[in-house]
Amino acid sequence: MLNFKNINRFTLVLFIGLLIISTFISISVFVFILVLLCWLIVTIIGSFNITWNYHLNAYNFNKTCNKKQVAITFDDGPNAEFTPQILDLLRAYHAKATFFCIGKNVKQQPKLVQQIIAEGHTVGNHSYSHSKIFDFYGKQKVITEIETTNALVASIINKEMALFRPPYGVTNPAITKAIKHTKHKIIGWNIRSLDTVKDNEQNILNRITKNITPGAVILLHDSQNITVRVLEQLLLFLQENNYQSVTVDTLFNIEAYA
Ligand SMILES: [Zn+2]
Repeated sequence: MLNFKNINRFTLVLFIGLLIISTFISISVFVFILVLLCWLIVTIIGSFNITWNYHLNAYNFNKTCNKKQVAITFDDGPNAEFTPQILDLLRAYHAKATFFCIGKNVKQQPKLVQQIIAEGHTVGNHSYSHSKIFDFYGKQKVITEIETTNALVASIINKEMALFRPPYGVTNPAITKAIKHTKHKIIGWNIRSLDTVKDNEQNILNRITKNITPGAVILLHDSQNITVRVLEQLLLFLQENNYQSVTVDTLFNIEAYA
């Protein structure tokens, strides 16, 4: 399996092997640099692709799902303007979804968190700050981010969130260690809509619908207008194709709260 541990082991063995061989024949220093470069490239790509399960195992797609079910997920809320519109649409189409909330937004919109829960959706942890440099945080800082957000949400809904989605979907050794401590389950996705990238509604929708299969997890953001428009089309598509949108905990049959 291509993961951080195996790549490290493989690179180390290769390195030692090359060192031993180099005592018999001369090996260019560039060969060593090339090995390190390959390690670095694979590790960077693996860290940015949650679906690789490179640093830790995430719930990205339920391949054993035998019902026409998908999980729509929203990151970066709750948002005073867009989350209510999204909740209205979900209600109209009898769809359930999962909202990965940012702690600092929860602090400003506690009522929306209550509403999300009251309407049968799931909330998950998406860090406190969603800082641009989150990926450079050490283990302790990641733990603080997760625990602060958990405590905030627990003060509103009386439940401890057990699901975590790392900001930007980036994973690294610090997050792995933090999660070992907090015991959260990592939720990824297998359909990235790229709704935050400047693109038109149709392209975003096509990227999702062409990849829909039972067990899919779709990544959207309840922090912008275009997602609301795409969601309406997506819910219509799901209805026409007899798909049901469920929460991630239902899709994977796991507990959303500890
Ligand atoms: Zn995010």
